[in-house]
Amino acid sequence: MNNLKVIIVGAGIGGLTAGIALRQAGYEVEIYDRVRELRPAGAGISLWSNGVKVLNRLGLGSKMAEIGGLMNRMQYRRHTGELLNDIDLTPLIEEVGQRPYPVARADLQQMLLEAYGEEVRLECKCVGVHQDETGVTAYFENGHAARGDLLVAADGVRSILRQYVLDEKVEPDYAGYVNWNGLVPVAPDLAPRDTWMIYVGEHQRASLMPVGSDRFYFFFDVPMTKEEAQQAGDIRSDLTAFFAGWADPVQTLIQRLDPEKTNRVLIHSVGPLPQMVRGRIALLGDAAHTTCPDLGQGGCQALEDALVLTHYLMTTNLGIEYALKRYERERMERANPVVEKARRRAEQIHGKDPNVTQQWYDQLASEKPADVTGAIAKIILAGPMR
Ligand SMILES: Cc1cc2nc3c(=O)[nH]c(=O)nc-3n(C[C@H](O)[C@H](O)[C@H](O)COP(=O)(O)OP(=O)(O)OC[C@H]3O[C@@H](n4cnc5c(N)ncnc54)[C@H](O)[C@@H]3O)c2cc1C
Repeated sequence: MNNLKVIIVGAGIGGLTAGIALRQAGYEVEIYDRVRELRPAGAGISLWSNGVKVLNRLGLGSKMAEIGGLMNRMQYRRHTGELLNDIDLTPLIEEVGQRPYPVARADLQQMLLEAYGEEVRLECKCVGVHQDETGVTAYFENGHAARGDLLVAADGVRSILRQYVLDEKVEPDYAGYVNWNGLVPVAPDLAPRDTWMIYVGEHQRASLMPVGSDRFYFFFDVPMTKEEAQQAGDIRSDLTAFFAGWADPVQTLIQRLDPEKTNRVLIHSVGPLPQMVRGRIALLGDAAHTTCPDLGQGGCQALEDALVLTHYLMTTNLGIEYALKRYERERMERANPVVEKARRRAEQIHGKDPNVTQQWYDQLASEKPADVTGAIAKIILAGPMR
């Protein structure tokens, strides 16, 4: 279809990437976000090869390689420091045809904003939508109304448009753990600069991965009840207590991080949902499938959504609703199993059943590196970016 005007609500990774893809297809796009200033949520993100391939497809491959970290190996260590497994990522890269890139979220956001090339309309909180046979109108809290041929609801984990699409309110599920994340300069006493280092034990994780400009993206995970999770203490004191007795690099990291620039997030998931589309309105990204970060696939799924949505709009002349239905079918088949798999993985890592987590620790020590990279490749290749 030609000459469409698309309203996008939400300027996160999903909304911006959809904006880029749809503009490249020749469509008119307006993106709205409720915030006064666009700031990335979180410090870093690991884009696995399927996400990177979407960006390559949009002409952002060389920029991505500039801002991404060179991650050649993964190492699992016991929380006390002993090596469990050392995994060369070369076979994975060869199997899937693209290197993954961990990246600082601020750099990713900047790249996407530049590639979008139009102004994002800020301080526009969408509060309602109406659709009829000729189009859809989004209403904003500030009184503005925007009309288009279709609307992409990329309004994240607490999406208000999800309720409109599903005709019921779906609250995000707390995944049972808290994550802290931030950036620190690369240093040899933390981890080798080309390695994703993961310390595991006591149902917790401490991890470092290289991103561009000689920095590590770090994160810590600790399981806790919702009530405990809501009581945030001083970041360094909390981490020092939770990770007492862990290996020296973990202690060094806790001392070296900047608490002012460290994020603390309660992890949630949404889905699988029974639908992603209603008429001319399509959910995209976390609004449709908020995925526990334990597979590193939530953002990658949002990127895939953007490309698949654009593809179906461009390649049919049977109408918008038809194109969105095709999008919905393909994306539910792909993203819903990823949501479920990531939730199971989150439970396995964080001790929902301590026996299962112990089995995982034992398995890590004996697992062949080829089995680890094979499992990652399977998830990557199950999507549209083969
Ligand atoms: C700790 C953590 C680590 C993660 N690690 C990874 C990883 O390594 N790899 C990976 O692929 N994924 C990862 N993810 C998942 C990834 O961050 C998300 O899947 C991705 O950011 C979703 O993008 P989105 O555009 O759908 O939503 P968001 O980025 O949440 O954007 C939603 C936007 O909508 C705006 N908005 C909301 N409501 C309204 C409204 N009513 N009106 C107007 N605007 C509105 C918001 O202000 C926001 O800008 C991680 C997530 C977490 C929490």
